[in-house]
Amino acid sequence: MADTRMLKFTDRAQAYPPKREAEARTQDFLEIARPYIIAKAEEQAARCSQCGVPFCQVHCPLHNNIPDWLKLTAEGRLEEAYELSAATSTMPEICGRICPQDRLCEGNCVIEKDFGSVTIGAVEKFITDTAWENGWVKPVRILADRSAQSVGIIGAGPAGMTAAELLRTKGYAVHVYDRYDRAGGLLTYGIPGFKLEKSVVMRRVDRLRDAGIVFHQDFEVGRDATLAELRAKHDAVLVATGVYRPRGVDVPGADTAGVVEALDYLTASNRAGFGDLVTSVAAQAVVTSAAALDAAGKHVVVIGGGDTAMDCVRTAVRQGAASVKCLYRRDRANMPGSVREDAHAEEEGVEFVWLAAPAAIAPGGVTATRMRLAQAGPDGRRAPEIAPGGDFTAAADLVIKALGFDAEDLPGMFNAPDLGVTRWGTLRVDHATMMTSLPGVFAAGDIVRGASLVVWAVRDGRDVAAQIHQYLRAQVAVPAQAA
Ligand SMILES: Cc1cc2nc3c(=O)[nH]c(=O)nc-3n(C[C@H](O)[C@H](O)[C@H](O)COP(=O)(O)OP(=O)(O)OC[C@H]3O[C@@H](n4cnc5c(N)ncnc54)[C@H](O)[C@@H]3O)c2cc1C
Ligand code: SF4
Repeated sequence: MADTRMLKFTDRAQAYPPKREAEARTQDFLEIARPYIIAKAEEQAARCSQCGVPFCQVHCPLHNNIPDWLKLTAEGRLEEAYELSAATSTMPEICGRICPQDRLCEGNCVIEKDFGSVTIGAVEKFITDTAWENGWVKPVRILADRSAQSVGIIGAGPAGMTAAELLRTKGYAVHVYDRYDRAGGLLTYGIPGFKLEKSVVMRRVDRLRDAGIVFHQDFEVGRDATLAELRAKHDAVLVATGVYRPRGVDVPGADTAGVVEALDYLTASNRAGFGDLVTSVAAQAVVTSAAALDAAGKHVVVIGGGDTAMDCVRTAVRQGAASVKCLYRRDRANMPGSVREDAHAEEEGVEFVWLAAPAAIAPGGVTATRMRLAQAGPDGRRAPEIAPGGDFTAAADLVIKALGFDAEDLPGMFNAPDLGVTRWGTLRVDHATMMTSLPGVFAAGDIVRGASLVVWAVRDGRDVAAQIHQYLRAQVAVPAQAA
């Protein structure tokens, strides 16, 4: 019998959950989208055209079974929809909130061009939030007892958390070491609450803790233990430390008072959201006071055009800045950040100054040079070049550097000179096994890819857990002394 519930895209318009008005949402750090009501989620899910080859699924890094869970949602079978979506993802409600869907699943939906894509991310978030509310999210199911073997995971971000969950499911003893005082990595301290409320992350962490995964917080590998010590303690080690070395702004005055790093700024704001007393932040040997990390009443200039810059400008608006400008050396069409986030920032009162690069920073202002875009190079990108005669000064009491991140020097920090790295400082791994140059030491997430996305960290966590499982099985079959 033909399915009459689906393929409603011709007579049902695309409708994302409504956003709160800019004026109201900039008064707090809560998420800006209201949740779907159930009827709306079912109605939107029914727009799916149930393609034979679902490009949304192909372009989702997790290859989530999107058409099937959309169909179950349209049929009102929400618990089954949740189970299907959870079968491929350890954090569907988080990806549903913060994936750049326009570049991934929704950007490849076949009805996108003519009718507007199915609102996949919003439905995914709805399904799993509903599952949490109804108690359908069950404790982690441990399938066997393999606790005689243990895995040490360095880094409690999405890559480390995903690997921890899946390895615990297999029955291994799992210990997670993280230098922050809370787990979650950039989900907790990088990404602001208006994109991802912290309770959503913490309930995931609690579920892992309840499964017997041991979290060692405030534990910095390199300071509190060497990599060699962790290798001696565990049968396998996973490095999932992310990338934290901020790219610099190479202009006079870039290191003076009133110039701060994006991640210091965002971390302080997220800490304030937890109710922590932020007195100062010490990173990269620079101590920044709490007052310096608060935009209230200040003229703020953020340098950069990626997602981190968008998070900074929108945080500054919420802190009550007198004005917020974003300086980017390319134009809107060539900015790396998501178009959706850029639109949110503009609605909230941020001024974008395109084709402008800082030339010098002094107390009270940033002097900037006008730029123009040259002809496209072999990589297809148009390099920015100086457009003579267009210098100007933007008033600034607080300047936030948001130019992206590179890998820290892990071989140096871990006292492990044999740990192989690429020329970008990311860890070199065997593509098939995800093992580093050190036997039994694996790596996953941003520390392998360079700065990337949460959904890719989850995917890598899933893949590396399977590789570590295989490795540990082989260790049991062929004990080390016999090998
Ligand atoms: C401001 C900002 C906004 C972002 N917004 C988005 C977004 O909207 N959508 C999206 O998909 N992606 C976004 N990203 C990217 C995303 O957050 C990352 O790609 C993802 O978190 C990488 O996961 P990970 O597990 O590899 O590393 P991380 O999340 O960085 O976690 C690494 C963990 O390792 C710990 N660690 C590091 N070194 C040590 C050590 N020596 N000892 C012990 N612990 C250590 C850290 O404390 C951290 O907890 C954003 C990134 C930033 C910076
Ligand atoms: S995980 Fe991300 S890319 Fe995959 S379906 Fe969900 S929102 Fe889309």
